[in-house]
Amino acid sequence: GNVEENFDLVIIGAGPGGYTGAIRAAQLGLKTAVIEKDATYGGTCLNVGCIPSKALLQSSEFYHEAQHDFSNHGIVIDSVKLDLAKMMARKNKIVGDLTNGIEFLFKKNKITGIKGTGKILNANTIEVTDKDGGKKQIQTKNIMIATGSVPVELPFLKFDEKTILSSTGALALDYIPKEMLVIGGGVIGLEMGSVWARLGSKVTVIEYSEQVCSMMDQDCITVLTRSLKKLGVNFITSAKVTASRSIGGRVELDYESLKDNSKSSIQGDVVLVSTGRKPFTDGLGLESVQVEKDERGRVKIDKNYRTATPNIYAVGDVTFGPMLAHKAEEEGVAVAEIIATGHGHVNYNTVPSVIYTHPEVASVGMTEADAKKAGIEVNVGKFPFAANGRAKARGATDGFVKIVADKRTDRIIGGHIVGAGASELLGEIVVAMEFGGSSEDLARSFHSHPTMTEVIREAALAVDKRQRQG
Ligand code: FAD
Repeated sequence: GNVEENFDLVIIGAGPGGYTGAIRAAQLGLKTAVIEKDATYGGTCLNVGCIPSKALLQSSEFYHEAQHDFSNHGIVIDSVKLDLAKMMARKNKIVGDLTNGIEFLFKKNKITGIKGTGKILNANTIEVTDKDGGKKQIQTKNIMIATGSVPVELPFLKFDEKTILSSTGALALDYIPKEMLVIGGGVIGLEMGSVWARLGSKVTVIEYSEQVCSMMDQDCITVLTRSLKKLGVNFITSAKVTASRSIGGRVELDYESLKDNSKSSIQGDVVLVSTGRKPFTDGLGLESVQVEKDERGRVKIDKNYRTATPNIYAVGDVTFGPMLAHKAEEEGVAVAEIIATGHGHVNYNTVPSVIYTHPEVASVGMTEADAKKAGIEVNVGKFPFAANGRAKARGATDGFVKIVADKRTDRIIGGHIVGAGASELLGEIVVAMEFGGSSEDLARSFHSHPTMTEVIREAALAVDKRQRQG
């Protein structure tokens, strides 16, 4: 093909890692292009991940509250009806607005957006194939691989997105299945399971481990599972799904107990397979530049995000670390800064992670179990929302805040919240940790009264057994 312009940086993939990295690179004066194979920019997160899932979580929570909680406030609604098509259209509109917004950000920052599939030919040349098969080559000084991840399929459950769903199919059902089976009780399984349970499906989560979301603070998960069970979600833990068959348009799963090896089966109208995601590098041409991958398919990088070919970098889901949008974003920015200035940095001790269920679980840093494993002695302060005036006024008394502080220095090394709005509340603890703050620092900071944030201060005070409100 014909050779086009010469760029300082070409980014493959326009997800949070790619588009955020592109904006930072352009701000730093690098001539930057982003290649995206899908019809819209924004990657998994904007198109089929964070954003559409949160739209449906919000809508389904309102629906559930209108049916079950408004009456507690003396608000009587005689009949609550659901217009699923409208709920889905609203979600699609939000996704459309945001993905178009990336288009605008590229223009504003003078970033060249290229629609097509990128393939690395050598360390300085990328071939782009557009949807009609047209090919062109682009020259560049640096390459950022930000090609993200895709859902993992089970060998006996191939996605058809009608009865056998990945998260993408579960975000787009046009009816409410009577019974939904969810394989994998991770964040995505619990979030999508919550959406459909609130809308009326009988949801059963089948989980391999003894406990769902085993990486999170287990006291938080206990509160969450109690609430999900109240919603009608059924949990089968320590169980391995071994086979599936289609029975009259429904799906039947066989599973085996890991405790006593007993075998059972269960039927549903649809099954969501949410057992994990894997890095996506198909057709990327990594073999032609000897970029290495580990046994899980993750692109290998050094601490400066460099692959074995030094002008080729990788960020986000395609490489190591938690598969989270904000983690991909910060890495994209760090790489842009490394290329432009020689320095870039991500603080991996303060990457927050959230389950957007009801109640939400939000967590940063070490759990008590992590600290124990690392041999760090800690003081832990814990305080419930039930003792907080604003939480009572909101009817959001379920949950607590837990602060984990280093016993020797009082420095905060972890924060864990379960409760309504936990995702937003956690920000305060993340910032305190970024500043190297102690529990005493949080305890001495003003917190508006009455707010849910007072519970964070009470937990910080409780580290030193000085809580005031309970
Ligand atoms: P991606 O967003 O996956 O983007 C990669 C892009 O590269 C894609 O657009 C892809 O089409 C493109 N691409 C791949 N190969 C090529 C090629 N050869 N040429 C051109 N383009 C290519 N994270 C959170 O932090 N919070 C959440 O609430 C959250 N919710 C989620 C809910 C769901 C249902 C799912 C599935 C994920 C969720 N995530 C969430 C995870 C989040 O979406 C990912 O961590 C994030 O999108 C990773 O960003 P990325 O830039 O690394 O890759």
